[in-house]
Amino acid sequence: MPQVSSFDLLLFGGTGDLAMRKLLPALYFRHRDGDLPPHGRIFGLAREALSRDRFVSMVKASFANFVAAADIDAASFEAFTARLDYLQVEANTPQDFSGLARALKDSPADVRVFFLSTAPDFFAPICKNLAAAGLVGANSRVVLEKPLGRDLASAQKINEDVGSVFAEPQIFRIDHYLGKEPVQNLLALRFANALLEPLWNRTWVSNVQITIAEQVGVETRGDFYDRTGALRDMVQNHLLQLLCIVAMEPPSSIHPDAVRDEKLKVLRALAPFTPADVDSRTVRGQYRAGTINGLPVPAYLEEPGIPPHSATETYVAIRAELESWRWSGVPFYLRTGKRMAERVAEIVVNFRAVPHSIFPSAGKDSLGNRLVIQLQPEEGLKLFMMAKVPGDTLKLKPVELNLDFAEQFMQRPMEAYERLLMDAIRGNLTLFMRRDELDAAWRWCEPILDGWRASDQMPRPYAAGSWGPAASSALVGRDGAAWREES
Ligand code: NAP
Repeated sequence: MPQVSSFDLLLFGGTGDLAMRKLLPALYFRHRDGDLPPHGRIFGLAREALSRDRFVSMVKASFANFVAAADIDAASFEAFTARLDYLQVEANTPQDFSGLARALKDSPADVRVFFLSTAPDFFAPICKNLAAAGLVGANSRVVLEKPLGRDLASAQKINEDVGSVFAEPQIFRIDHYLGKEPVQNLLALRFANALLEPLWNRTWVSNVQITIAEQVGVETRGDFYDRTGALRDMVQNHLLQLLCIVAMEPPSSIHPDAVRDEKLKVLRALAPFTPADVDSRTVRGQYRAGTINGLPVPAYLEEPGIPPHSATETYVAIRAELESWRWSGVPFYLRTGKRMAERVAEIVVNFRAVPHSIFPSAGKDSLGNRLVIQLQPEEGLKLFMMAKVPGDTLKLKPVELNLDFAEQFMQRPMEAYERLLMDAIRGNLTLFMRRDELDAAWRWCEPILDGWRASDQMPRPYAAGSWGPAASSALVGRDGAAWREES
């Protein structure tokens, strides 16, 4: 990576929830740990009329809510706030961009990063206005937050609008799951160790399960969520990106395009859906009232902003398959849901059982080995091996080899946005989605959306606080498999 000694980061949506809760704290931590180039300014941009001092006060107040006091070092926080500035910029108002151009006119910064943490409707006008104000040059980058479209056509429109101003190598499409430490570690585990490679295929892997389960409901975003649903919100981006990391072939190098070429091949190898498959290979659900952590919670249809007969799915489970030599016939089960029993994001790789067990008492415990990559709430990697329980009988039990990162490396795990923001500043595209990846992901998801739309069935009900509709157990049960919590 070329050395960056100075930067200007222009944070559109700089007063919003994402900026206050994730982006500014992430920047602070990189500043505190000495990773941010010494000369770098961070501009909050939004419509509200705020002075610089008022913006800094807002940031201070939000840190009090979102950052543990023990993590804030007073001196470095003061130095961090010295980097902050604020400008009033409305996305559709060209004059505001002239003001921005004046503010940046004599900037000596090596790179200029535009981070668009706004609704995607503003991406096109912001890019157009940036270009018209002469603010985009060879050293400029743009970072795009999700959602990137609601179908292939709208994603292509966003990409064309942004692409008419920025070249593809200047566009950083965020999927923050790729920035998580265990995902990086899965790459290291797979491609820096020879041990797993001979097992990482249809001969030894029986199935892969990727779960992102949330306990929260739609909170205050009912209107947005009802237009989106679980497939668009989680599957098209996060779950498919995780699937790519598990299933990709070893890239020839860590160069961004070498990695992204391999991910693209995975997306293109996904067995497409026919209308008949949609019924047999997917389960969609919608939560009813139930109990989360001992407290009653309302049904989806009773949440604020949700129309009374909404057919939006709050849960989806999919049986995906890859048409490739390595993975042919291995089910990749993807699932995500709101108001689930636990908050958990994990990848489970289930290996086949031994071909012949000599331990008659092993029973259900002869399930085989299992690698679990935990993304939340804790981050880590666990490999379950069968071992003998001490005693005079040959009783077996899975025991875990635990690769606890925090314990091994004795340092605070880095948040995904810290890594991704640093990569955007340094110009490293490896962890960002390329346009053709996004297109391929939408191409695979669209027939599922079409199939559901054409169906006269409503999403299946499930109780809040459960693991989703019973049909999702049946989906994996047909292969003789079970979700991790059921096995
Ligand atoms: P938010 O809290 O509603 O903030 C929106 C920001 O955009 C505010 O700073 C707002 O400030 C600014 N804004 C609104 N209209 C504008 C306009 N016409 N011109 C310029 N600025 C404008 O939203 P958010 O939760 O931060 O989310 C931002 C984006 O990230 C959304 O697309 C969201 O889907 C995505 N995202 C959010 C999260 C999250 O955890 N929050 C996670 C992943 C992705 P003013 O009203 O003062 O202009």
